[in-house]
Amino acid sequence: MVSLAQSILGAPGAQQRRAIAKAITLLESTRGDHRTQADALLTDLLPHTGTSFRLGISGVPGVGKSTFIEALGLALIAQGHRVAVLAIDPSSSVSGGSILGDKTRMEHLSVHPQAYIRPSPASGTLGGVAAKTREAMLVCEAAGYDIVIVETVGVGQSETAVSGMTDMFVLLQLPNAGDDLQAIKKGVMELADLVVINKADIDPDAATRAQAQITSALRILGQHGRADHAHHDESQWHPQVLQLSALKGQGIDRFWQAVTRFRQLQEANGKLAARRRHQSLDWMWERIESGLRQAFRQHAGVKSLLPQLTKEVEQGRIAASTAARQLLQAMQQK
Ligand code: GDP
Repeated sequence: MVSLAQSILGAPGAQQRRAIAKAITLLESTRGDHRTQADALLTDLLPHTGTSFRLGISGVPGVGKSTFIEALGLALIAQGHRVAVLAIDPSSSVSGGSILGDKTRMEHLSVHPQAYIRPSPASGTLGGVAAKTREAMLVCEAAGYDIVIVETVGVGQSETAVSGMTDMFVLLQLPNAGDDLQAIKKGVMELADLVVINKADIDPDAATRAQAQITSALRILGQHGRADHAHHDESQWHPQVLQLSALKGQGIDRFWQAVTRFRQLQEANGKLAARRRHQSLDWMWERIESGLRQAFRQHAGVKSLLPQLTKEVEQGRIAASTAARQLLQAMQQK
């Protein structure tokens, strides 16, 4: 019998597509035996990952993410690429609803044989959802999707998660001035390797103003981040701002040229490999901490002590740090 891993690594087609879906369902399962199988699968697939380019895309609902990804994805497929699109929707874990999945999105891309689109895992904490998406990304890479796009909405902490699993993080903005300030305030702008002002067709003047504003904001952020004069260093990437119209398909070529230049620079100066190494270790620690938290909450000794100690901390009868120490000690006892 052909194993799941073999089907994923095998030829593109209906069988591979089914195998990918099955693998991702396995990764998203909370059952212990499924998790064991999923871990074995990831170990088999891992040597076949890492050669794809991982592109993160974020922006508020309505900015044009699906329109953009549809246009970009189809253009990339026309150049011979295979494109996977994964989503992280922070709202789905809170409300069960979905900002990213409640409409027919990417009409043509979603049915294209060279594309694979997977909506956000629907349940769990953001950390859990992000971890599953990261694993799904590895499955898609092993299956030969050489461009993996991870999409998220510009609300909550999901942008940090997406920039933490991708090679390049792109922020989509609307051509009005209010928005970019929001992104700067939230600290999202610092994460961006490239900012795209979409819907430039609606108001070209506003788009040009926004481009100038964000360009100078990025320059200031960049100066804070770097003590040296890296700005003149041609071997380093400096975040850029482009305008385009996803709806009209204008500017997609220039966007991809910028991405390609970024990729070439980051490969040449070693930053791509370093970023991935850091990401892997960060993820390992994120998962360890999440696992410890879960084990802590499920521990019988902790469970029996927690209500009483919580009350005592609230009432000021015991110091928070003392309570924490007692609970951690309880966890270490069998
Ligand atoms: P998302 O919520 O970020 O995925 O945004 P959508 O891709 O669903 O786009 C929201 C709306 O904006 C849709 O009605 C799109 O047709 C429209 N839209 C997207 N990109 C553009 C653009 O470049 N120009 C114009 N005029 N409209 C756009």
